[in-house]
Amino acid sequence: MATSERSSDLQITSSHDRQKNSDDAPDIWVAMSYHVIVIGGSFAGLSAALQLARARRRVLILDSGKPRNRFAQFSQGFFGHDGQSPSAILANARSQLLSYGTVSFAEDLATHAAKSDEEYIITAASGTVHTASEGDLHPD
Ligand SMILES: Cc1cc2nc3c(=O)[nH]c(=O)nc-3n(C[C@H](O)[C@H](O)[C@H](O)COP(=O)(O)OP(=O)(O)OC[C@H]3O[C@@H](n4cnc5c(N)ncnc54)[C@H](O)[C@@H]3O)c2cc1C
Repeated sequence: MATSERSSDLQITSSHDRQKNSDDAPDIWVAMSYHVIVIGGSFAGLSAALQLARARRRVLILDSGKPRNRFAQFSQGFFGHDGQSPSAILANARSQLLSYGTVSFAEDLATHAAKSDEEYIITAASGTVHTASEGDLHPD
């Protein structure tokens, strides 16, 4: 499904955004609502997302997969990672990040951003619409 659909209490977006209620529940999917959508999942975006995950925020990282150092075979001068390939560093960082249950990652290009009174609305090249809202933060 390419676009979001809303009824009074149900929002259906893409498969990335869907979360089943429980194993026993009927096949009804409810939307995952994010606190933050990070656009760009390379060194800067993953660093930001890690701090947000540590702060228990629900985070979606949208990344089009073109880090600027993708042409470099090895990374140099990055403490603890000297001599590793940039793609290996990113893959490791992404895997560590995805161990946080509140983090999702989607390979897509953000093409449009808007803000309503309630939420931020990000449209991606695939046609998927993602939303984020500062409300409903974790109580603890
Ligand atoms: C050839 C080269 C070699 C380098 N070697 C080293 C080195 O050895 N050591 C070192 O410390 N630094 C090196 N650097 C610098 C390092 O690559 C950068 O500092 C680092 O990549 C910056 O990270 P970033 O997250 O800001 O940006 P980027 O790595 O450029 O990442 C931006 C990400 O955002 C995504 N994106 C952009 N727009 C959108 C959108 N609209 N929707 C979704 N996703 C989007 C891109 O696809 C990309 O994945 C090198 C750079 C280059 C060019």
